[in-house]
Amino acid sequence: MRRRVTAAVVGGGPAGIATALSLGRAGADVVLAAPPHRTEGQAPDNRTAALFAGSIELLKNVGAWETIAPQSAPITGIRIIDDTGALLRAPEVVFTASEVGLDVFGWNVPNGALVSGLLAAAAQPGSRVALHATQGVATVTPGAETISLTTREGDEFDAALVAGADGRNSLCRTAAGIETRTWRYEQAAIATSFHHTRPHRSISTEFHRPAGPFTTVPLPGLRSSLVWVERPDEAQRLAALSEADFRAILEERLQGLLGTVGEIGPRAVFPLSGLTAKRFGLNRVALVGEAGHVIPPIGAQGLNLGFRDAATLADCVADALAQGRDPGGAATLDAYSARRKPDVSSRITTIDVLNRSLISDLVPVHLARGLGIVALKALGPLRRFAIREGLQPSRELPALLLPDGARLLAQRASPSHHSAA
Ligand SMILES: Cc1cc2nc3c(=O)[nH]c(=O)nc-3n(C[C@H](O)[C@H](O)[C@H](O)COP(=O)(O)OP(=O)(O)OC[C@H]3O[C@@H](n4cnc5c(N)ncnc54)[C@H](O)[C@@H]3O)c2cc1C
Repeated sequence: MRRRVTAAVVGGGPAGIATALSLGRAGADVVLAAPPHRTEGQAPDNRTAALFAGSIELLKNVGAWETIAPQSAPITGIRIIDDTGALLRAPEVVFTASEVGLDVFGWNVPNGALVSGLLAAAAQPGSRVALHATQGVATVTPGAETISLTTREGDEFDAALVAGADGRNSLCRTAAGIETRTWRYEQAAIATSFHHTRPHRSISTEFHRPAGPFTTVPLPGLRSSLVWVERPDEAQRLAALSEADFRAILEERLQGLLGTVGEIGPRAVFPLSGLTAKRFGLNRVALVGEAGHVIPPIGAQGLNLGFRDAATLADCVADALAQGRDPGGAATLDAYSARRKPDVSSRITTIDVLNRSLISDLVPVHLARGLGIVALKALGPLRRFAIREGLQPSRELPALLLPDGARLLAQRASPSHHSAA
């Protein structure tokens, strides 16, 4: 079988499905080439993602939020506890959404629910997304007029644009000849969830410890998800403990904050590493999600960035279609790359500095952190700015991250909008 489409998305993680839906909303006909959602024998993704306002707007705009919301929990506060054992201990700080005029900072969404909800939206008539289940895309060949894909089963597609959402070892990125910068941290994160007896009151708590942060994030009811960053060998040791032993250490670390710890979900260990593509679009390939950038799970930035990729690519493709330009041509991809670069680089730098200062045992770093946290608490406007920037950068936001974004994007994709502008 050989088919021609405007855009092909490779990869069925949350960034890929969100991109397919976003491109469909921009007026492109899209094929999503991805492995089946639940492959037998594969461990389920037990991670959750704290998603901020823009990401939630995107989910609403592509018609996925209604099915995802009941399985997600709001986050209305962020508590930071200095657990470094430093001489100068920073006081506990609680940031609340209400102090910056928001109802919530965001929502904690289980990855499984997110992927199912996005796939259900893609299956809706009018999504313009055709789901093509494959064990994998085998070749990606950019050409002057089109880009061709073949799957392991031998199916072929020609497209104007490929969105490479095929994760950190992206085949699409290699095929486009896009170089990367990679780095490693001597840390790994244990991800799991657990029941507890005291309510979390919709507050996420970050214990800042020498080996890295230990963060609980609310889930519906008396449950929270946990991201626990440690030295790699310690993370492996903790993840392999019996449930009773793991529970005992978890309770000790939580210092009674959430009461008695009950049932604990499956534990998975993620080595921490970083990657950034040197550009985000080239040779008819646009990179989205972890194909373009991988950052440590600190400050809940990874997938929020991936959703901003999806929405920005939709803007760029809408502009191209409205102006009769090639949606996979150099002008479209240059515009996309230029819009994504400052956002991705600033997030990578912030998280890197934060992480390195957390794992440093130099007293001046502790001092600076102590003072930094105190300053943030004391200075009203600066603090509000820091909170807002953490949630969403103050740059031009793509249509799908705004309320009523589906209509705004459709307007952007219409030729009359551009001739009037
Ligand atoms: C412990 C932990 C906690 C996190 N918490 C947060 C958080 O709170 N907030 C947040 O925003 N982010 C968070 N993140 C980051 C977030 O989980 C990732 O950014 C996100 O899962 C990446 O999604 P993706 O779709 O880009 O990649 P993936 O989920 O890796 O998807 C890639 C997909 O591509 C497919 N694929 C690969 N090769 C091919 C091929 N050749 N053909 C077809 N398909 C292919 C794969 O099968 C896979 O389905 C966290 C990460 C970790 C590790």
